[in-house]
Amino acid sequence: MHSFILKNSFRLLLFILLFASCRHRKEPVLVKFSGETQGTFYSITYYADDSINLKPSIDSILHRFDSTASTYKSNSIISRMNNNDASVRADAMFTTIFQKSMEISEKTFGAFDITVGPLVSAWGFGLSNRMKMAQHRVDSLLPLVGYHKVMLDNGKLIKTDPRIRIDFNAIAQGYSVDVVAAFLDTRGIQSYLVDIGGEVLARRTKPGGEKWSVAIEMPTKNADDESGIQAVVSLQDMAISTSGSYRKYYVENGIRYSHTIDPSNGFPVKHSLLSVSVLARDCMTADAYATAFMVMGVEKGRLYLKKHPSLQAYFIYQEPGGSMKTFFTKGFEKLLKQDVP
Ligand code: ADP
Ligand code: MG
Repeated sequence: MHSFILKNSFRLLLFILLFASCRHRKEPVLVKFSGETQGTFYSITYYADDSINLKPSIDSILHRFDSTASTYKSNSIISRMNNNDASVRADAMFTTIFQKSMEISEKTFGAFDITVGPLVSAWGFGLSNRMKMAQHRVDSLLPLVGYHKVMLDNGKLIKTDPRIRIDFNAIAQGYSVDVVAAFLDTRGIQSYLVDIGGEVLARRTKPGGEKWSVAIEMPTKNADDESGIQAVVSLQDMAISTSGSYRKYYVENGIRYSHTIDPSNGFPVKHSLLSVSVLARDCMTADAYATAFMVMGVEKGRLYLKKHPSLQAYFIYQEPGGSMKTFFTKGFEKLLKQDVP
C-alpha cells in the first residue's frame, strides 16, 4: 500500500516535471548570418534555443583556418612549408587535410593531387602571374608533381625536391565546412546548414522534420553570368560539394583554360564536363572527389562511379553539339527534389 502511494506520487511528480519542461520549451529560433572568407562568401543557418550569435567565433575559426591552409597567405603553415621554412610544423588541421589528400590521391589514382602547386602557379591560377606556357615548360614542372613525393614526418613536410609546392585549394574549403560544423556541434546547435563558397553540410532536419534544400547551379556561359538553378537536393546529415569549369578559367587564343589541372599531363583539363557535385558524409571528402571527377572527365568518371557504388555524384556536361546533359547516380537521384523552382 505504502509503496503503491509512493510509486504513484513519483509518477505524478514525473508527469508534472515532463509537463513543465514541455511548457517551458521555447520554439527554436532561426539564426542566419553570412560573411566573407577564403576569397568567397559563407552563410550559416541554424535553429537554436535562443538567438545566440556565433558569428564572431566562426569568423575567428575561419581566420585561424586560413593561417593554416591558405596558399594566399604568405605566413600560413602551408606557404611556409612551400617556402621550405625548416621551423614550421603541421598543426592538427594541416595534418587532417594532408592525410585525407593522400587517401583521395590513392583512391583516384592521382587524379586528385595536392602537389600540382607549381603547375597551378605556372598556368596562372595561383598568386604569381601566368607564365607563357609551352610543352617544354610543362615537362620541366612535371617532375615536381606526384603525391608520393611528399610525406609528413612528425609534423615536418618531407619533399623529394625543395621546389615541390602543395596546394590545398581543392579540399580545404570543404574541410573548413566540417570544422565550422564541429564547432556548432560543440555549442549544442542541433540543426544547421553551413555553406562556404558553395561547399555545404546539412545537419539533421529543420524543426518540423523538413530536410534542408540545397541548389545546384546551372553552369553559365561566362564566368560572371548570373546562374539559374539546375537541380535541388534534400539533405540531412550530408555534405555536398560542386566543382566547376565555368567560374575560374581564362581564355587565350580562343582556348578556355580551367583551374583544374590534370596531374598526369600537367595541362588544365579541357573536356566536356562543366560541373560535378558529390555527396559525402563530410564535406572534405565531397570537395576532393568533386575535383578528382573534374580531372577524370565524363567517361572515366562514370566508370569510376560504377566501380564505387557508395559514391554519389551529379555531372553536368556539354554535348558536342553544345547542348547540356546530365548524368547522376541512383543514390543521388533519390535526394533530388522534383519541384525545381
Ligand atoms: P572549385 O570548387 O572552385 O571548382 P576545386 O575544389 O575543384 O575548385 O579546386 C580547384 C583548385 O584546386 C585549383 O584552383 C588549384 O589550386 C587546385 N587544383 C587544381 N587541380 C588539382 C588537382 N588535380 N588536384 C588537386 N588540386 C588541384
Ligand atoms: Mg574540390
